[in-house]
Amino acid sequence: MNFTSMLEVDEQFKEMSFDGSLVFVLLFQFCKYLQRFQSTLVIAEHNNEKLLPITQNAITAAKKLGGDISVLVFGTKCSHVAEQVSKAPGLARILVAENEAFHGFLPENVTPLVLATQKQFNFTHILAGATALTKSLLPRVAAKLDVSPISDIIGIKGPDTFVRTIYAGNAILTLKSKDPVKVITVRGTNFEPASLEGGSTVTETAPGGEYKTGLSQFLSQELSKSDRPELTSAKVVISGGRGMKSGENFKLLYDLADKLNAAVGASRAAVDAGFVANDLQVGQTGKIVAPELYIAVGISGAIQHLAGMKDSKTIVAINKDPEAPIFQVADYGLVQDLFKAVPELTGKL
Ligand SMILES: Cc1cc2nc3c(=O)[nH]c(=O)nc-3n(C[C@H](O)[C@H](O)[C@H](O)COP(=O)(O)OP(=O)(O)OC[C@H]3O[C@@H](n4cnc5c(N)ncnc54)[C@H](O)[C@@H]3O)c2cc1C
Repeated sequence: MNFTSMLEVDEQFKEMSFDGSLVFVLLFQFCKYLQRFQSTLVIAEHNNEKLLPITQNAITAAKKLGGDISVLVFGTKCSHVAEQVSKAPGLARILVAENEAFHGFLPENVTPLVLATQKQFNFTHILAGATALTKSLLPRVAAKLDVSPISDIIGIKGPDTFVRTIYAGNAILTLKSKDPVKVITVRGTNFEPASLEGGSTVTETAPGGEYKTGLSQFLSQELSKSDRPELTSAKVVISGGRGMKSGENFKLLYDLADKLNAAVGASRAAVDAGFVANDLQVGQTGKIVAPELYIAVGISGAIQHLAGMKDSKTIVAINKDPEAPIFQVADYGLVQDLFKAVPELTGKL
């Protein structure tokens, strides 16, 4: 069709007295029609006892995409975790893979399972929470499918259009993927956890196969045990920085955390100095948190730290330097020596 005839068609279209609402309804129906062809596989994570909350965030993200949602639960003994997932409303199927090869959740062994599942069901999206496991698993899956992984998204604008942060959270990028299968990890703090009540999806056995690749071997793991809430899901987080001066001084933060039922975090400077273990690190190369209340103690507010906590609902900063950049993002700031302020606060609570 040449340009002149295109204009003619356009004119004819204008002359047809279309009702605006009719066009809207037709568009809406068309989108729903397209959604019917979408199907998402959510990768479930658990600790062999309980489903990890990040999977609930991933299910919410999958619901935003529309279409069928399947959940893949794998492990050595995970049927009771699958039962927990089956209570989530709105799922099409739950695929369960129990195999000794999944001991320790080695990504080398789990990748063939995800690929076999994909081969059988031909999903349009494979989606998981952004965690230590999926950061290792999904790039492998994407490479095998010859598509680009889309990591740590914070929003979904459509089935092929996603939002993610770049430059340590200083810029927001909207990307459109043309890949036939979208392999995505989602930032848990940006998607509400899906309910685990009211659903009754039946479980099915995931495709079988030889999953022990021998590429890696699980030897042991040391899990840090704490009575405090987990850092990424705690409602209150108190983090200490280099200003704490030593690991012993973190006791001040633990005492305060006990009063507030809070998790304790740290800046990378505090971790690098050996004050606390590195699983406490908050930031670009640590954990991303978005609690109701974040208290930064003796932390300057470098962009890499802010990248991990600036979505917190209320930010409180305690720092003796009034020029510290943390005060620019803080809702409440206290310019004071932390060794005076923190015990006083704990005492008052
Ligand atoms: C690639 C890359 C990734 C990184 N990833 C991360 C990350 O994930 N997380 C992260 O945190 N950092 C990260 N960093 C490091 C980051 O740039 C900063 O170096 C770090 O966050 C600084 O930690 P801090 O605020 O504890 O220390 P400092 O910047 O040294 O600040 C200490 C603060 O304590 C205050 N203070 C000192 N004594 C007292 C006192 N008695 N009372 C009150 N206040 C006091 C000081 O005024 C100062 O503001 C990364 C850096 C790079 C290059």
